[in-house]
Amino acid sequence: MKKYLIYFLIFLAICFCIPIFFTSPFPIRKAKTTQSQNIQVNEVTVDSTYDYKKYKTVKLLHKKDNKVEELPFDEYLYGVVSSEMPASFEKEALKAQAVVARTYTLYKMSQNSKKHGEADICDDYACCQAWISKKDRLEKWKESSREEYWNKIVSCVNETQGKMITYEGKVINAFFHSNSGGNTESPVDVWGGSNYPYLQSVQTSGEDAYSEYASEVTVSKKKFEELILKVHSNFKIDYKEKDCIKIKEYTEGKRIKVIKIGNLELSGVEIRTIFGLKSANFKITIEKENIKFEVIGYGHGVGMSQTGANSLAKQGKNYEDIIHHFYTGVKIEDI
Ligand SMILES: [Zn+2]
Repeated sequence: MKKYLIYFLIFLAICFCIPIFFTSPFPIRKAKTTQSQNIQVNEVTVDSTYDYKKYKTVKLLHKKDNKVEELPFDEYLYGVVSSEMPASFEKEALKAQAVVARTYTLYKMSQNSKKHGEADICDDYACCQAWISKKDRLEKWKESSREEYWNKIVSCVNETQGKMITYEGKVINAFFHSNSGGNTESPVDVWGGSNYPYLQSVQTSGEDAYSEYASEVTVSKKKFEELILKVHSNFKIDYKEKDCIKIKEYTEGKRIKVIKIGNLELSGVEIRTIFGLKSANFKITIEKENIKFEVIGYGHGVGMSQTGANSLAKQGKNYEDIIHHFYTGVKIEDI
């Protein structure tokens, strides 16, 4: 009897153990994979080659006197945000600008291009990004709004402290501009070279509400020819010829890609540079004695549009929504 009881107990033990033998490896392995996946995710999102935490200060080159000033990072950002975007804009737009400016600065630092010698970045908006001292900034605002505006800028930087934009774990090249005219641009259509996956052409409603960004440039036919001849000495044009000026192709962002002018085919970006236009989104008309450009938008059109950010904020979007709208497939992470 005892024997049978032992057999029975062994049988029970086997019955009990079989499911463990068969099932236990799976949860354990699963747990391990999850853990290693977590580790991997962390490794991917924090790029090992850059140590963002070391950037506590910014060495800023003042273009005016060629002097380098070292500023605490956030203090530097107060000067950038208050210089780059009107303080009257919506708070969420200003917060997006703060994160974009921080990201842009970190990108410049991590590139370590030595473009400005010892300095990380300069205060020229055409070269890096604009910056203004607190003293100069306050002086430019009406006295009645000084305190409110400054506090608003400071709180937008502080409320997004340490936030940066990444793509596949690396800080992005966070281009931005004033007004897209409704569609942002792919960098390849502006500067050539290769595209960035996170800088796609996107549409933003409400950009046309900023009529102050529409502009006109009129030059005499003589001046028009002179300016093109400076760059292309073989340039010829006969205004009697039909289609002597003709837009041949548009970019994805609805700007001029290729325009035929006389015997030349030029890019919209080149025409923008030659005639100092605010953007490459223009209409061109031959008048009696003049050539007229009607221009929409302001800036290269790549990345975040500042007025677009403000439009989105007015529509109830927060700074994260705004960033995800202008930069495709990115993450907003803490340094
Ligand atoms: Zn610069």
